Amino acid sequence: DNASPRKPDWIRVKAPTSEGYRETHRIMREHKLVTVCEEAGCPNVGECWAQGHATMMIMGEICTRGCTFCNVATGRPDALDPFEPARVADAVAKLGLAHVVITSVDRDDLDDGGAAHIAQTIRAVRRRTPETTIEVLVPDFLRCGPEALESVVEAKPDVFNHNLETVPGLYPEVRPGARYFHSLRLLQRVKEIDPMMFTKSGIMVGLGEDRQAVMQVMDDMRAADVDFLTIGQYLQPTQKHHAVARFVTPEEFSGYEKSAYAKGFLMVSATPLTRSSYHAGEDFARLRAA
Ligand code: SF4
Ligand code: SF4
Repeated sequence: DNASPRKPDWIRVKAPTSEGYRETHRIMREHKLVTVCEEAGCPNVGECWAQGHATMMIMGEICTRGCTFCNVATGRPDALDPFEPARVADAVAKLGLAHVVITSVDRDDLDDGGAAHIAQTIRAVRRRTPETTIEVLVPDFLRCGPEALESVVEAKPDVFNHNLETVPGLYPEVRPGARYFHSLRLLQRVKEIDPMMFTKSGIMVGLGEDRQAVMQVMDDMRAADVDFLTIGQYLQPTQKHHAVARFVTPEEFSGYEKSAYAKGFLMVSATPLTRSSYHAGEDFARLRAA
């Protein structure tokens, strides 16, 4: 049975109707950019896009992985578009973003997992709008040599984000193509290469994990020197996807947030509607001002 329980009233989603939303939509279409906001059917799209906060998903709409929580199509992706980095940079300028989050599909078909393309996109945005802080949310480069990750770090994003997505015990059913300790080690290596770079990771809850396992993930992340943490409620994109095991209560989320700060994370977002990119800019600006 793949049915999820009924959504509780704390999962409220406003219909996207604002002028700002329409403008963001127009700029994304004009630049032929794919967004994770739309691909994932994110519940925050009305709020984020009203402010121009769209998270661009580069390297195509087709992923070589098939995570059971994810709405992105799995298959054989198209060739990389060499003009995409410039289009992203142009869109960031048009949106007037102080902070941009750039994510991508997994490209196991490419030798470097798409690392060079990600690095080029970072550089293109940096050249065009040097004031914009850049956060990349990268794949795990599971089948690549160490130079793939190194080339992304060398492009100097302000925040290096890679999500662990769930607790290790649920990897076989939730993230079958990935390896928990590989992803953890990836985050740790970023800090080894560039100790000044902020690292960020996140998980979804409500997939069947228990509190103890979530606490362990936080400890693992801190042991890998991860700075920022996001925890949000998993929502089932369609009936074909992994069912929601449970809706975690807002009180439990506050408990996670408190524990995370006690464990030493610099910035934590843990609410039912938290997503990896939710309020990423505001939170980062607040941290830099502090
Ligand atoms: Fe897009 Fe992230 Fe906002 Fe969702 S939370 S709409 S994915 S920017
Ligand atoms: Fe979705 Fe990312 Fe998994 Fe691909 S690797 S299926 S884009 S979550």
